[in-house]
Amino acid sequence: MNTQLLILGNGFDLQCNLKSSYEDFFKNALIDTHGESFGLEQLRDGVSGFWEILLYHYYLTNKSANLMWYDIESIIKKTLFKIFDKDNLGFTFWSKALSRAKKIPNNLILNRFFGSIENYLYVYLEIFFRNNLDLNQTYPESETIDLIIKKLFNELHNFEKRFCKYLKEILVDSNNQEQINEKYIIDAFNLLNKLTRFSEVDFKHLDDIITQEYREVKEVVSERQTITRIKNVNVLKGFSKLKFVNILSFNYTNIFDILSVSAPCTYSNVHGKLCGEKCQESCNLTNIIFGIDDKAIQSNGENIDLRLFSKTYRKMLSSSVPISILPPNNIPLQIKFYGHSLSEADYSYFQSIFDYYNLYSNNNVSLLFYYSEGHEQTDAIYNLINEYGKTLSNKEQGKNLLHKLLLENRLNINKIS
Ligand SMILES: [Zn+2]
Repeated sequence: MNTQLLILGNGFDLQCNLKSSYEDFFKNALIDTHGESFGLEQLRDGVSGFWEILLYHYYLTNKSANLMWYDIESIIKKTLFKIFDKDNLGFTFWSKALSRAKKIPNNLILNRFFGSIENYLYVYLEIFFRNNLDLNQTYPESETIDLIIKKLFNELHNFEKRFCKYLKEILVDSNNQEQINEKYIIDAFNLLNKLTRFSEVDFKHLDDIITQEYREVKEVVSERQTITRIKNVNVLKGFSKLKFVNILSFNYTNIFDILSVSAPCTYSNVHGKLCGEKCQESCNLTNIIFGIDDKAIQSNGENIDLRLFSKTYRKMLSSSVPISILPPNNIPLQIKFYGHSLSEADYSYFQSIFDYYNLYSNNNVSLLFYYSEGHEQTDAIYNLINEYGKTLSNKEQGKNLLHKLLLENRLNINKIS
């Protein structure tokens, strides 16, 4: 078996029927859609928070036009740039909200619809300024910016916790919270098998994947004997070939973690993974990472303070030593993609990977894009390769990269059944 680098996006979990998209999350955890046909959708009881209410505004404003109202990462980017960028006259949105806060008194409750996204942002900031600043005083600009950024970041982390909690809820059996969502695990292993061909088995039951043994431990404690049953879970032997596979997942789930077994392959969650315990206490800044591509922050020179919202910066906060997550670059390698939208938001990652393997001239490396029916992505692949080509120092090479890959049979697009 060839060494493989398998890059998975949310399409992987969705194909395995895990309702893990932002849209699922919003519709199942944030909004009460019971009155939808009467136009009475509202946030669920107890749901508040800056990003939650903002998404609600995007939903009400954009859903009928079929726009991507739930694309949280592009909403984060758009919102931050809107608040902090200067307009043609040199004013920022937040400074305008600050002057409004000084003029008009307001006693508004945030948990409702304000007619437009812009209006909501105004009202949110006005209330924030009233609660956190002495409006008769003048503060240095940097101090105010710092205050807003800290607040919005804190709100984002609360939002991430909510998402973590939601994912953990759908990963257990809906009838028995003690059991894992077996169907998802079985579907996920079968799909992983189709993508990597590590096994001949068609998985039908959990027992095809793991063995569970109970071991009795006898202990004598103050003259009384106690017996504890300890569950040992092991992945079946047929998984040894997975050691040639290196998985880079953009999801927050890890199928081996869910089974409580150690992974037989290198498995990394690019943007963090679910926390182990109760979200309120144990979710930290490296569990679920919502953010924007570092490139977007760097090209917005004005607001380097926004780096807290860069996914790359967040990864740096991770206390664990970064392990080498990529296979070596001097052996034959297949880089496989599945279920990733290949959107601009993650270009930084793909660029680093292609650079590391010297994609242009390294004949040992080939790209395989897999898709399921209805999820063709020829245009996205075309854009990805050409955008990467533009980053090569030799511009002529950049322009013919796609052509060269096709000619050398190093780029394939395959449908899987
Ligand atoms: Zn959590």
